[in-house]
Amino acid sequence: MATGRGRQLSLGRIAGIPVYVSPTWFLVAGLITIWGRDSVLGYLPQLSDGEAYAISFLFAVLLYASVFVHELGHALTARRLGLPVRGVTLHFLGGHTEIERDAPTPGRDLVVSAAGPLLSLALGGLGLLAYLAIDDDSVPGFLVYMLAAANLVVGVFNVLPGLPLDGGHMLRAAVWRVTGDEHRGTVVAARSGQVLAGLVLLLPFALDGARPDVLTIVWAGLVAALLWSGASQALAVGRMRARLPRLDTRTLARRAAPVAPDLPVSEALRRAREADVTSLVVVDSAGRPTGLVNEAAVAAIPEQRRPWVTIGDSAKSLRQGMVLDLDVRGDALLKAMRETPASEYLVVDAQGRVYGVLVSSDVDHALAAR
Ligand SMILES: [Zn+2]
Repeated sequence: MATGRGRQLSLGRIAGIPVYVSPTWFLVAGLITIWGRDSVLGYLPQLSDGEAYAISFLFAVLLYASVFVHELGHALTARRLGLPVRGVTLHFLGGHTEIERDAPTPGRDLVVSAAGPLLSLALGGLGLLAYLAIDDDSVPGFLVYMLAAANLVVGVFNVLPGLPLDGGHMLRAAVWRVTGDEHRGTVVAARSGQVLAGLVLLLPFALDGARPDVLTIVWAGLVAALLWSGASQALAVGRMRARLPRLDTRTLARRAAPVAPDLPVSEALRRAREADVTSLVVVDSAGRPTGLVNEAAVAAIPEQRRPWVTIGDSAKSLRQGMVLDLDVRGDALLKAMRETPASEYLVVDAQGRVYGVLVSSDVDHALAAR
């Protein structure tokens, strides 16, 4: 879920995939080491305190190594299916694989999502088999048993059917496949993630009755909060993506009137009213567009000064990137606007003729409207 690289430590590349560790990992490794001491001594009472801490820390490291195997499952499967992988990050509650999934098919999404939990469950199963062959009063016996159990928990937890978990991605892909509607898949899986968050919050009470351990409640609260925020974020992104088809330059562009740069502002505004348009494009003597007039900038000129200021002075010169084709839409339109941020863009037709002006705030409104 973390996308910024600012405070992450790079571990270099493993199997060609960049690996990062978030500093929060050290905090959790420390907590596991402290909390784990009692469990270690419970199983292996012959150990000293120092030895118990060391084994507890070793468990924390091996636990994250198995989380890394889980993430590597996602990453290598994605790469194999032709989806570019930006990297794997280990953070305090597990890991995250960043995959560029701009135009995946539901089938590919399903396979990539399932690969991680499948590896965790396989590690857990192998661990249990190995445990049967090892003396359970030994350090390796304890570690293998704990890691097997942890991997089974990680595997089972991650296939729970709600976003942002792997199981949520699988549910999303399945609904998408069945209905042919990607957006519906996202909504169903995100809502299901919110329900899961609620259930996790109730879990301590279901397990321990009316008076559960405070630590269990804190953990459940933390996991529930992360699930809830992940699910809600997935829902918001899904809704935004569903609105992208509305972003059609042809319908969003305002009609514009051409004006010469030496025209007084008051006269330019009169012509706009006369032509019943809300935008003005400054053109040179050959009729070629050279600038766009910002509505707010013109409105800020006091009424009595408008006859004395030319429209060319209050216009913004056209820069590269401020001219958009009439048929740019959706994602491509947002991308073009991000590359060249401006309050207005000139829209031209296939022949390069002025069609109108696209105002950035109109695009924002189209995205925000329900
Ligand atoms: Zn996963």
